[in-house]
Amino acid sequence: MARLEVRGLRKSFGANEVCRGIDLTVAEGEMVCLIGASGSGKSTLLRCLNLLEPIDDGVILLDGVDIAEPGLDPQPVRQRIGIVFQSFNLFPHMTALENVLLAPRRVRGRTREALMPEVEALFARFGLSDRMEHYPDQLSGGQQQRVAIVRALAMTPEIMLFDEITSALDPELVGEVLDVLRDLRADGMTMVLATHEMGFARELADKVCFLDAGTILEEGPPAELFSQPRHERTRAFLSRVL
Ligand code: ADP
Ligand code: MG
Repeated sequence: MARLEVRGLRKSFGANEVCRGIDLTVAEGEMVCLIGASGSGKSTLLRCLNLLEPIDDGVILLDGVDIAEPGLDPQPVRQRIGIVFQSFNLFPHMTALENVLLAPRRVRGRTREALMPEVEALFARFGLSDRMEHYPDQLSGGQQQRVAIVRALAMTPEIMLFDEITSALDPELVGEVLDVLRDLRADGMTMVLATHEMGFARELADKVCFLDAGTILEEGPPAELFSQPRHERTRAFLSRVL
């Protein structure tokens, strides 16, 4: 059964319809990659899934329950669906550890003592044990992004959304962040990511969706979509980025 199912999602900003009836299914433990030109609606779709943007039409089913119904409290959903952005958005005046502890303490009401074992384990898992007391400006971009991922995971989400999380990084730092995604995938995390890393998508995605002007024009396993795109627009996009 689908963990996440989107049907007929529409979202406009003023007269600009950015999502034009998106259907998307994400199964348990799947990694789904969204690809497409800048402005095709990838970020908006991810923000809608996390209820950071209200949608105009359609449904977003999380385990079969519509989470996009007007009037529902978005907070519990945001705890179940984590999101990490291109810009790491760490609080500069707080250490890596304080950044990670903040939301689970405030939102979940958990104590520092109760959180520390699992938070330390997360820092260790992503090679950051010796960076917990550092401030963001003392960390490389790759380390900051890994801390941002730890911060999202500390909320124990069931699904993770990643919006071009390597796009702001120096090329030599991209690999260490992709390794984190590899690790999460091996661990069975259900993930949706917008990415320009076509090699990565090809290697690890269960499904790749090509967004074009606010619709999913074409989707399929990476081996199919990258080698035998059905649509001319998919072919044109891939020929530009591959
Ligand atoms: P992508 O992530 O694929 O580059 P986006 O979802 O960021 O695409 O943007 C799709 C379109 O939506 C763009 O035309 C962008 O200008 C517009 N858009 C995105 N966010 C907003 C917003 N908050 N207000 C107005 N327009 C927006
Ligand atoms: Mg974007």
